[in-house]
Amino acid sequence: MTAVSKVLIVGGGIGGLCAAIALRRKGIEVDLVELKAEWTVYGVGIIQQCNVVREMARLGVLDGYLKAAFAFEDVALYNAHGHTLARIPGQRLAGPQYPANVGISRLALHQVLSTTAAELGTRIRLGTSVERLDQDEQGVDVTFTDGSQGRYELVVGADGLFSKVRGLLFGDTYTPRHTGQSVWRYNFKRDPSIDHLANYLGPDGNAGLCPLADDLMYLYLTSYEPGNPWMDTATLAAEMRKRLGAFTGLIGELREQIIDSSQVVYKPMEVVFVSEPWYRGRVLLIGDAAHATTPHLGQGAGMAIEDAVVLGELLGEPGGQGVDALLKRFMERRYERCKFISDSSILAGDKEIEHDHAFDRVGLVRQMLALTAEEI
Ligand SMILES: Cc1cc2nc3c(=O)[nH]c(=O)nc-3n(C[C@H](O)[C@H](O)[C@H](O)COP(=O)(O)OP(=O)(O)OC[C@H]3O[C@@H](n4cnc5c(N)ncnc54)[C@H](O)[C@@H]3O)c2cc1C
Repeated sequence: MTAVSKVLIVGGGIGGLCAAIALRRKGIEVDLVELKAEWTVYGVGIIQQCNVVREMARLGVLDGYLKAAFAFEDVALYNAHGHTLARIPGQRLAGPQYPANVGISRLALHQVLSTTAAELGTRIRLGTSVERLDQDEQGVDVTFTDGSQGRYELVVGADGLFSKVRGLLFGDTYTPRHTGQSVWRYNFKRDPSIDHLANYLGPDGNAGLCPLADDLMYLYLTSYEPGNPWMDTATLAAEMRKRLGAFTGLIGELREQIIDSSQVVYKPMEVVFVSEPWYRGRVLLIGDAAHATTPHLGQGAGMAIEDAVVLGELLGEPGGQGVDALLKRFMERRYERCKFISDSSILAGDKEIEHDHAFDRVGLVRQMLALTAEEI
């Protein structure tokens, strides 16, 4: 007997879908509600590092995931002109036969996770959210936005940066804040030299190239945007080119090919960190709902996926322990690790804003890789 037999997951993003997979694999009943009626994700890629590849193996999705991804080994840091500052070999944490890191399109990742969650028997309802949560010692009565009701032994809020579940638990104690920076992204045909993750440290922000498929890679750029200004979507290509002005070499060549504003994905960086246990009673937050950070270390989704795997391990344990004891153990395994990623990612961005070129970015990346390689 597991501690819970029926769980509601709110949010069908990366964290919610991985949690559904992890819990279904332990035989726990899972309902999942997703706000979007059309379950789309925006079409750029995501970097998934060694720890994520290991956790995808634990979720039992590695083969389908690797088929949809571009596998690579090294992470390199260059200056704005392409001169190598460091090349860090990947660690094959899922086993010697599997790659260290991958780049994957967000759409492909969504397809792998949503198909697996559905095949494992997750009951998924789109265009639906939670309206009210009423807890007692044995469970949570949930009222959904369509007026229907359900009772669950645990509710998992995996509803992202602007989490409604977080609001229902903590009121307006935690609201996202803009860090001062934004991210710009653009897809290209993959250059043969981009068979690794390539980060370019620029004078005002950093650029990078991540391979996604044999014929696809994406370019990302961080920039200082004080006050989070409104951007005219018609001028995004010109604005992105302007912010890449200091780069030469491959980034400089690619800059001139950024001509279609409709293909630029622009996103202000917003963060939130819940600094107390991420649960009250039988309602728990995971992923960005609890710890949304900046993409400087490429670990936001990694932490959401790890949350899901740890939750599955704990809830899948047979026998005796109550939900409160399991959630305490969840926090012991997750809080410090996520706090490190959250704080260090924000620090890396702050140092870009301050133009602190003495900051040891390479050292921080090495520290992050060492920490995330450790077992959770
Ligand atoms: C520019 C940028 C680049 C990034 N790059 C990387 C990277 O390379 N590597 C990496 O590991 N991480 C990266 N991240 C971070 C990563 O995208 C997030 O950490 C990750 O998506 C968090 O997953 P999540 O499931 O917690 O939240 P989300 O992915 O935000 O999913 C939340 C889901 O909940 C749904 N939802 C929202 N509200 C409700 C509601 N009220 N009811 C029901 N459903 C709801 C949403 O529609 C969505 O489907 C990046 C982030 C940004 C902003």
